[in-house]
Amino acid sequence: MKEARVEQAVATYFKDRFPQFSTSQQCGVQFGTRDGMADVVLHQSIGGEKGYFVAIAECKKFPLPILRARARAQLKSYMSATNTQYGVLAVGKDPRNWEFCENKYNNWFTEINREDFEQGIKNWKPVSAGALAVDGQAERRISHWWKWIALFLGVLFMVSFSSLLLLWPDPPEPIVYITQTGKKYHTYNCEFLQDKNVEKKFAIYLDEAEKDYASCGICAPHRIEKSK
Ligand SMILES: [Zn+2]
Repeated sequence: MKEARVEQAVATYFKDRFPQFSTSQQCGVQFGTRDGMADVVLHQSIGGEKGYFVAIAECKKFPLPILRARARAQLKSYMSATNTQYGVLAVGKDPRNWEFCENKYNNWFTEINREDFEQGIKNWKPVSAGALAVDGQAERRISHWWKWIALFLGVLFMVSFSSLLLLWPDPPEPIVYITQTGKKYHTYNCEFLQDKNVEKKFAIYLDEAEKDYASCGICAPHRIEKSK
């Protein structure tokens, strides 16, 4: 028995029982950056666009070629990624052999019987805002929304940062001190300048001082000032 025939059986079951919704086979599902294919999806149909997923079916041939736990995990990962409330693990074409589950709340899954599954879908309402629509339409809209916020914040940050730089006062020109007869320039607090034998000291820009004077060996103003 081929898996495609199980898919066909599920699609027929969906169409018969839930004519108020649409049924699609091999629907693209996004898991963050990965893509996957849900076998059969029951979904809304809003003005030609596919709306929220109502149920997802994972179809497997009978007997199950993989572990049942793995097949369940696969179905639940699709339901989580799309925020879908109802799931079917269809093993073989007979609905009596299928497993039904419900994503009760925040990916808390519970196995339900077929009656509850059908009743639940009849009363289904799109409660979960932000659920992923078929083809990732809703998710794309949401991510665009976030991109605009991020862009806005980025521009806001750059504008405020650059204006801060513009308003920041220029660092003062480094000033050093010379004496009337000395051949060296000093910082203001240089020990040499404190000596009472030293005549008056004169302030001078470091650039100017470097032309005619040597840096003092005690206070080394060329190192102190230039390193700022
Ligand atoms: Zn000095």
